[in-house]
Amino acid sequence: MQQFDYICIGAGSGGIASANRASRHGKKVLLIEAKQVGGTCVNVGCVPKKAMWFGAQVAEAINLYAADYGFDVTLNKFDWATLVASREAYIKRIHGSYDTVLAKNGITVVNGFASFVDRNTVEVNGEHYSAEHILVATGGRPSIPAIPGAELGIDSNGFFALDHQPKRVVVIGAGYIAVELAGVLHSLGSETHLAVRKHAPLRNFDPMLSETLVELMEQDGPTLHTHSTPESVTKQADGSLLLRFENGKELEVDSLIWAIGREPANDKIGLDKIGVTCDERGYIKVDEYSNTSVPGVYALGDNIGKIELTPVAVKAGRLLSERLFNGQTHAKMDYDLVPTVVFSHPAIGTIGLTEPEAIEQYGKDNITVYNSTFGAMYTAVTSHRQITRMKLICAGDNEKVVGLHGIGLGMDEILQGFGVAMKMGATKADFDACVAIHPTSAEEFVTLS
Ligand code: NDP
Repeated sequence: MQQFDYICIGAGSGGIASANRASRHGKKVLLIEAKQVGGTCVNVGCVPKKAMWFGAQVAEAINLYAADYGFDVTLNKFDWATLVASREAYIKRIHGSYDTVLAKNGITVVNGFASFVDRNTVEVNGEHYSAEHILVATGGRPSIPAIPGAELGIDSNGFFALDHQPKRVVVIGAGYIAVELAGVLHSLGSETHLAVRKHAPLRNFDPMLSETLVELMEQDGPTLHTHSTPESVTKQADGSLLLRFENGKELEVDSLIWAIGREPANDKIGLDKIGVTCDERGYIKVDEYSNTSVPGVYALGDNIGKIELTPVAVKAGRLLSERLFNGQTHAKMDYDLVPTVVFSHPAIGTIGLTEPEAIEQYGKDNITVYNSTFGAMYTAVTSHRQITRMKLICAGDNEKVVGLHGIGLGMDEILQGFGVAMKMGATKADFDACVAIHPTSAEEFVTLS
């Protein structure tokens, strides 16, 4: 039996952040990972996705904008394998820097699948490790529907394992992943279909965002199939896949990607054995301090059913270590006003309440909504114009900004600073007091009337 102060199960964003912070406070830390250090974000999520999105940006610059900027470009070919190789080389360097930092912090890393023996002990590869505090940061995995032939499709992990570009592809789902993967595949030249089972993708976002995304997809994007719920998938003699929808429609593709949501990866680690309570979907129940129902066992990140974003897991992981090992007894994650970006084409940025949520919370008469629509300048000087839409939702007489939403070029980089302002409780007057930076898209947020 090896003894530690702190064991983190799962070396993803949350586990690594919490382990590093605990070691900074002098604790002896064990980090256990069944797959690759870095978890979903680094290996099959945010990082490789962003690399593919950047590739798609290059394709758009060449195909849609270069000519009007005076460049006579002949595109001979796009080589998927080269982009994947560049991406994977970058990820390898990230692995290297993780290894360096973990080693420098004196953290023991064990590769294997952990399961609880008791509340203070886990077993990995036949060895027992014990600690007073154990964090379960095991993340999540893609869900696959229970329909005939579902196994013929791939999920987001399978997308990142593709060594060649699918010629014809359908992405099923209506959330972040479906929108992002469909956009990338379309821009890189695949014949791409996006199938959603309701009226639109991202329908839980502010309606302006969802509606504008659909409008932009119709102008230049994947072919959107609404009210299309998959019924079955079959493999045809030529190797292609035939997707049948419940509405009777059929689609023939070379590749099918499921992006219908994710589920927690909490099973098989023996949570039931030590009495950790989970909800009916398998998410670990935690209080606001990341405590599970078992003293000394904690959980955070994608396995607790809150906000499934890397920076949320990182922050929650660090705060937990500050609370446990640095006397910050009230340190806890604040899940309010978390800024988030969907890397669609163009990007979507959102913070705080949607308009329907603001109406529900404050009443229609107590909110003021400011809107702006304009052509992004980068595109406005070309024949391929693309709109940008922005919205501010303000509450009360002092017009506190409670919702900020935008879709347009640069939205991904614009958002962070406005997140700081909103976290500080900024009002519309505070926004207006800031001098605009001209000419940018961001300036619209401080000149709305
Ligand atoms: P989401 O939960 O965001 O969206 C999945 C959607 O797919 C559902 O909301 C639902 O939409 C639809 N759906 C569910 N079941 C089915 C079904 N059987 N058939 C067809 N459609 C279905 O999941 P994602 O996998 O896209 O992303 C998971 C999380 O990962 C996100 O919530 C986000 O937190 C995180 N993420 C963040 C990114 C970023 O920050 N840029 C990027 C990628 C992921 P409906 O009900 O409308 O049909």
